[in-house]
Amino acid sequence: MKKRKMMFCCLFLLIAMLSTAAVNNVSATKVFISYGTTQYLTDMGGSGELSVSGDVSSYIKNLFDSAGYTNFFDFWGTRDQQTQPNTVYNYAEWATRFRDTTVILYKGHSLPVTCPISCGNDHYGVYDCEGYNITGGETIKDYEIYNKIYDEGYGSHDFVFLWTCGAGDPSRLGSTSGSHGWGMCASWMGINNAATSLSDDGYDDPDGNDRCFIGFDYLSIWYTNSTNYSNWNYGHFIYYFYMHALQQYWTINMALDAASELTHGDDVLYEDTPLYGGYSIWDPRETPPVSVDSAMHVWGDGNLTIR
Ligand SMILES: [Zn+2]
Repeated sequence: MKKRKMMFCCLFLLIAMLSTAAVNNVSATKVFISYGTTQYLTDMGGSGELSVSGDVSSYIKNLFDSAGYTNFFDFWGTRDQQTQPNTVYNYAEWATRFRDTTVILYKGHSLPVTCPISCGNDHYGVYDCEGYNITGGETIKDYEIYNKIYDEGYGSHDFVFLWTCGAGDPSRLGSTSGSHGWGMCASWMGINNAATSLSDDGYDDPDGNDRCFIGFDYLSIWYTNSTNYSNWNYGHFIYYFYMHALQQYWTINMALDAASELTHGDDVLYEDTPLYGGYSIWDPRETPPVSVDSAMHVWGDGNLTIR
């Protein structure tokens, strides 16, 4: 919910009481934006992950189209506006100014970035379209996103899902101070002390604040990884998640459960999956690769509806 809108709530109610005009036609404006990098080197997902990531992005965009969103943008990779730093910054600003609800999906990789003012906090970025260490390639930085939404009053980004490494760890959620933000969750959503402001288990203990962030504690699982049930993989999981989250009256939690049952087996709820309980995954950055533990992390309000 936009804070600016809430400030006008009392005035709006007063006008509504004084007027017999129906307000039923007032509808919220909603935007969905899908971003993603195209850099999947052999040891970082590879061509199969690249292909599935692109497909899933376009399928999910179509779900938001069918659900009647005001805008639904597939900016994955090189499509349309492209996943470039300025695209992300400018659309964060635009969405905050002009849209009541903003839903973001990013698929790719994270990395630490340097603070321009040496604030002493940890900053993070995500890969742009071309990826890391490519000529002309740049990183999408947390504080740059916050700069843009801060100027607009922030608060329209109600659901941000970063399918990337580490953004869901409590130490990486970040915070804000004045016009400066650090950590992807705090910066994109404009939340001070995000790890304590949001419920740290939005699935089991939703905080009722109508805002939700999903990330991974450490390494995100690949879309192409099998769920070990039938022929399903985690690309199917996220597709079915959005499909159900966009059903009328369905919550994030109900959609997580539905996607879990479809891709992990009958009567398997989200809390029964390795996403919630934790999984082991090879860290490709090590030579030889080592097995590390990670999990998906739902922050805030799993009872949020995005339809
Ligand atoms: Zn800083």
